[in-house]
Amino acid sequence: MKCIHCEEEAQAVCQFCGRAVCKKHLSTGRFVSGFTSVGGVLSFTNNGVSVDDAVWCGLCHPEYRRTV
Ligand SMILES: [Zn+2]
Ligand SMILES: [Zn+2]
Repeated sequence: MKCIHCEEEAQAVCQFCGRAVCKKHLSTGRFVSGFTSVGGVLSFTNNGVSVDDAVWCGLCHPEYRRTV
């Protein structure tokens, strides 16, 4: 499988959309945690969404979903 950003061999798969990304273009869940804090969702940590090291392709826009 090839990276969606370049022609490198993919190292991981986006947890949100399933796209393949190489090490160089791999992003992490920082985007998501920042997104949710901006939204002021205080119950974030209780919703079981582990995003600290989640693989993110950098292209898709994962939506925060409440489980409660
Ligand atoms: Zn790449
Ligand atoms: Zn993605």
